[in-house]
Amino acid sequence: MGLVPLLLVPSQLDSNACVVPCSRYHAWVADKRSISRRELFRGKLFQPIRDAAQRGAAAGRSVRRQDMALRILQRPPGAVAEGQFLASCTRCGECVTACPPRAIRWAPAEAGEKREGTPYIDPMRQACVMCSETPCITACEPGVLRTELPLTMATARVDAIACLAWQGQPCRLCVDQCPVPGAIDVDEADRPHIHAEACTGCGVCMQVCPAPRNAIDHQPLPSRPFWHG
Ligand code: SF4
Ligand code: SF4
Repeated sequence: MGLVPLLLVPSQLDSNACVVPCSRYHAWVADKRSISRRELFRGKLFQPIRDAAQRGAAAGRSVRRQDMALRILQRPPGAVAEGQFLASCTRCGECVTACPPRAIRWAPAEAGEKREGTPYIDPMRQACVMCSETPCITACEPGVLRTELPLTMATARVDAIACLAWQGQPCRLCVDQCPVPGAIDVDEADRPHIHAEACTGCGVCMQVCPAPRNAIDHQPLPSRPFWHG
């Protein structure tokens, strides 16, 4: 099968409609809305700072097209080893279409000839929200995304120097928004800790971090297991 015609991509990505229902995603969005209503006062106080910080962080940490050739790409959950992935992913785009928050994108030409058209996630633009049904995996007919493999996509750790909470300011957005139970909690001083054994590296914490310098050190996995099935 050849590459998906890239002319189809913008119209698909511009759509806000979810093509595949995902209860976990909608619950997550609903929760975000209810949190912002509940915490309206606090939100008003922090919003301008948060918006400015978010813009700055996004500009600095998002995967830049010109840097893509040198970057390890974050693949969707359950991805096989990179060599196997490149050999067997048909670039059909079914996972891109199936992803409710549109977290999965097509790698552009700047990612390199072998990786162009393959699916990747840039959490600073839209993190994976860890749908319980993993529709991306279900959609992957060639099986380069697999439920049998770990869903872990990246590692993440809190940079205490950049983290507002670690510097004594009230902030727990990463803890409140993390979709993975047990991946982040706070200590007795309300400072966030990421637990590597539970964290999938989805990148939600990185996306929501309002610190002027993003406090989440997030690194796509350098290696993933080969699938022998
Ligand atoms: S699990 Fe993540 S990558 Fe897969 S469909 Fe859901 S949000 Fe998209
Ligand atoms: S659905 Fe599978 S084969 Fe198709 S683009 Fe996504 S990862 Fe590649």
